[in-house]
Amino acid sequence: MQAIPYGRQHITDEDIAAVVATLKSDFLTQGPQIEAFEKAFAQVIGSKYAVALSNGTAALHLCAMALGVNENSKVITTPITFAASANCVRYCGGEVVFADIDPKTALIDIDSVRKLLEASPKGTYHGMIPVDFAGYPVNLEEFRKLADEYGLFIIEDSCHSPGGYFTDSQGVKQNCGNGNFADLAIFSFHPVKHIACGEGGMITTNNEVLYKKLLQLRTHGITKDPALMHENHGGWYYEMQTLGYNYRLPDMNAALGLSQLQRFDEGLARRRFIAKKYDEAFVGTNIKTISAPENFGHGYHLYVIQVENRKELYDFLRTKNIFSQVHYIPVHTLPYYQSMGYKKGAYPNAEEYYANCLSIPMYPSMTDQEQEYVIEQILSFCQS
Ligand SMILES: *Cc1c(COP(=O)(O)O)cnc(C)c1O
Repeated sequence: MQAIPYGRQHITDEDIAAVVATLKSDFLTQGPQIEAFEKAFAQVIGSKYAVALSNGTAALHLCAMALGVNENSKVITTPITFAASANCVRYCGGEVVFADIDPKTALIDIDSVRKLLEASPKGTYHGMIPVDFAGYPVNLEEFRKLADEYGLFIIEDSCHSPGGYFTDSQGVKQNCGNGNFADLAIFSFHPVKHIACGEGGMITTNNEVLYKKLLQLRTHGITKDPALMHENHGGWYYEMQTLGYNYRLPDMNAALGLSQLQRFDEGLARRRFIAKKYDEAFVGTNIKTISAPENFGHGYHLYVIQVENRKELYDFLRTKNIFSQVHYIPVHTLPYYQSMGYKKGAYPNAEEYYANCLSIPMYPSMTDQEQEYVIEQILSFCQS
């Protein structure tokens, strides 16, 4: 059996042709593919606006900047996420405050967020960054209510959940990242994610003011829009009005993303099919899994199992050419955050989750045969 990773990209001849066509065009950096990709992505997600960026981390950084995070900001997020969800607050000089997870969902626990907010005077916190971890959608309607009580912004880290949705109190399906509850949402197009650009990211929003701010921050804080400029010296003239970055996505990468987007539904359906097969295979075993309620659409970036002898299983699977992975080492326990005074033991649910979790292979191009082999090996380990 060929090596089976925990996740991987799927590149077709159409994808390759799209990239080659862009290479032969006039635009290598930001060109027509960017706008086409942004439009198509916003449509799939159901947001008004989308801004393509060089990667998901750059997207998080610009979100924090656009929402005014600074040295006086305290922003709440979950320890069970990729470090970038927290780092974006640090880029802007703000303080990261973690809230523990709910062990039933592995998502940030709203009660633990509420406790933090209630324990300090109003105005202490600036915002929150909930993460649709593994693809399980956060119920953002509930988080929005809480955020509004305390005047907080919400950045939704939807990297794991394009195509995921929760059902709100009115019975309406709310797509992850659709901007109805979060001020801004971000996605990544790293090859293990649903859509691969090589490197790439996207911010979605329904807020026009933030949208325009993001366009400017993406390209050095520069504008060429005569309506926005203070002066105008001629055709060459531009103004750098604020300190931005070069976080542009190259047109080749956007062409790849746009081509991949054509197979988005297919890929998501395949992920859900694979998840269902795993769910069924692990019923009645000592393997714990998390699935979302019926009226939630899980995005299944990851399929996570929880087992007591996680390290032994990880090592065993490697000997069988199956490369599982752990998501995530709790962010507050990483040496950088430890050096800033965050304490191990502070978030017991997150730490217990980390002790037992293992992400097993989940990607659309995994064959039935490969998945059966994975299941067989896991069950044989757990029964021995
Ligand atoms: C992948 C990921 C990111 C960062 O995306 P990059 O494109 O790799 O910079 C941020 N948050 C989460 C939850 C992710 O999974």
